[in-house]
Amino acid sequence: MTASASPFRIVHTVCSHDCPDSCAVLVTVNEQGRAIKVEGDPSQPVTQGFLCGKVAKYLDRVYAPDRILYPLRRKLGTAKQPRQRGHEHEAFERVTWDEALAAIATRLQQISDEHGPESILPYSYAGTIGVLGFGSMDRRFFHRLGASRLDRTICSEAGGQAWNTVYGKKLGTPTEDFRLAKLILAWGANIHGNNVHLWPMIEQARRAGARLIVIDPYRTRTAALADWHIAIRPGTDSALALGMMHVILNEGLEDRAYIEAMTHGFKQLAERAREYTPERAAAWTGMTAAEIEQLAREYATTRPAALRMNYGVQRAEFGGSTVRAIAMLPALTGAWKHRGGGAVLSTSGAFAWNEHPVRRPDLQLASPLGRQARLVNMSALGQALTELGAKPEDGPPVQTLFVYNSNPGAVAPNQNAVRRGLARPDLFTVVHELFFTDTTDYADYILPATTFLEHTDIQGAYGHYFVQLSKQAIEPPGEARSNVWLFGQLAQRMGFPEPCFRDTPQEIIRQALNMDPAGGPDAPSANPGMEHITYAALEERGHIPVDLHNAPEAHPFLPFTVGPLPTPSGKVEFYSESLAAAGLDPLPGFTPPTESRWGTDAARYPLELLARKADNYMNSTFANLDGHRKMESSTNQRLEIHPSDAAARNLADGDPVRIFNDRGSLPLTALLNPSLPPGVVAARLDWAKLHTGGSNVNALTSERLTDIGAGATFYSTLVEVAKTAEPAKI
Ligand code: SF4
Repeated sequence: MTASASPFRIVHTVCSHDCPDSCAVLVTVNEQGRAIKVEGDPSQPVTQGFLCGKVAKYLDRVYAPDRILYPLRRKLGTAKQPRQRGHEHEAFERVTWDEALAAIATRLQQISDEHGPESILPYSYAGTIGVLGFGSMDRRFFHRLGASRLDRTICSEAGGQAWNTVYGKKLGTPTEDFRLAKLILAWGANIHGNNVHLWPMIEQARRAGARLIVIDPYRTRTAALADWHIAIRPGTDSALALGMMHVILNEGLEDRAYIEAMTHGFKQLAERAREYTPERAAAWTGMTAAEIEQLAREYATTRPAALRMNYGVQRAEFGGSTVRAIAMLPALTGAWKHRGGGAVLSTSGAFAWNEHPVRRPDLQLASPLGRQARLVNMSALGQALTELGAKPEDGPPVQTLFVYNSNPGAVAPNQNAVRRGLARPDLFTVVHELFFTDTTDYADYILPATTFLEHTDIQGAYGHYFVQLSKQAIEPPGEARSNVWLFGQLAQRMGFPEPCFRDTPQEIIRQALNMDPAGGPDAPSANPGMEHITYAALEERGHIPVDLHNAPEAHPFLPFTVGPLPTPSGKVEFYSESLAAAGLDPLPGFTPPTESRWGTDAARYPLELLARKADNYMNSTFANLDGHRKMESSTNQRLEIHPSDAAARNLADGDPVRIFNDRGSLPLTALLNPSLPPGVVAARLDWAKLHTGGSNVNALTSERLTDIGAGATFYSTLVEVAKTAEPAKI
């Protein structure tokens, strides 16, 4: 049979889950319009034809029997409270989209009139990272409404802002170039678990003699495969980075030519690094001074040396300063000059989307508010729902929470405070979702959402440099609808007259690409680095790299080797006047987190908790699928603890335990793990409703914010553990 006569269609889509790899996914669709296969696109140089274990069985998710397919309304008189899995529907009744949209629009108008539009709070994050799904029609809608703006800090803001204080832009070593490295330093980066398309490059480099060193408090799959795993204490990474700088400078291993040409504030940094002797850094990190010296020498003398930092290191109280310290290492050694060297935290700075027309922040001026709305930090949702509005300067209390692309009932810190807020009888909550989650248990309306197979989008990445078009492969099952459709419809119900609320996904994509609206499919993008991209070319090829002058041999892309950089000084900033002006330390330093073994509460709560993410889930996504749960069964409801800490508490493997602090407690089962640093325990994020006791690790985490970027501090959490009489049911 020829390809054209095939009864099947193959559609180019893009995995929109919150992952640096942004895989090109080919979806095979049969004559009945049903997706029958998903596979990685072999022509995409980073995807290389394979998908991770999370998405390889994606059709289990698309066609899951418990997927929400119709709009639902809470039945009168049913309490907002956690519901047992499989019984959630008992609290809801099916309504039509017309009924749901009309009722929601009416209620939003009433709440806006009575309490002011800022009493409405959208809550979304990276449940989809497509440009349209992440933030387009939704932003237009909430701006026009005059709703509070959400400060989207929960994942990467501390690290992103910190990186930019050093380099001005989130760029880094291309994934494809890691194969040329001779040393790979994975710093808080579980590459095998959540950046798996970097792994083949690392394997290739290792076959050519490269060494892989992993710095991570937890022995992840990546750490277990490394040549050297350094199980550092949580939150002490900046002490290690500064200790390495001390050794590098002491032994004259820095690259003076690069420093001279490309950096600002070297003298001040050298003075700061002098304070961090290997012995001092060792006392904080739990390493030996000799190990710090060895690491520093190996890093500074191996070329090319590539550093993969991931966002775990910045989810600590001083995560911003930590990212700054680590990010400075390749500038000190000149690692950027060598192809296959350098570092990467994120590549997202390469995608200069034309955000204004996509999100229309100007619509705030047309709202009843008539000005820019207040900003509410998503990492302190518990406080926002229970305390905001108590002081006159706060503005109104939150009266409506509109959740999409997120599951705050499971993923937001300080879960008990979040739940107290969600359970407020006067809070009107709408949730756009695929499944019944820890958040939908509190919803007044649940609206069925689409997967990336069921809508059209455009996507960049934070782990590579390809712009990709994600075409709709199948019709949404039931009455599921995309974010763009939902907020466009709601806007019309609210009577918003602006034509932008009727834009199609294709029109918004053209706006994001800054294409002439009157131009045809061959009109080029006017975005910097995308001038060679047309809609027709995207339709045909699916993925096109941004222009980084990355001609492979003649002009390899070597980030941060040519100035001026987009920083105030135009150089790599070891010393940041902007941070100084903001009253922050202009140099990287180490301060022990308040919740750490050096903190004042350590006598009562002496154990540092790693509130880990699962390799086979995406935060809370996929945790409801049996196949994925099976892959995580070895740590399901386990409290991993070092044998010495277990012995001190008279605990044996398999003992029922309670892990607790002032914010909450969880029943778990002890699992002795000698690879953890003593004083550190680990427990995995899961859905609260799937946990014995109905809470998850976020019952223990706090709403304290990071030093830079006001992000969440999941990994600065103190707890105690005690044996209990009753076993935790698993
Ligand atoms: S989750 Fe990441 S690795 Fe897996 S398919 Fe999606 S983009 Fe690729």
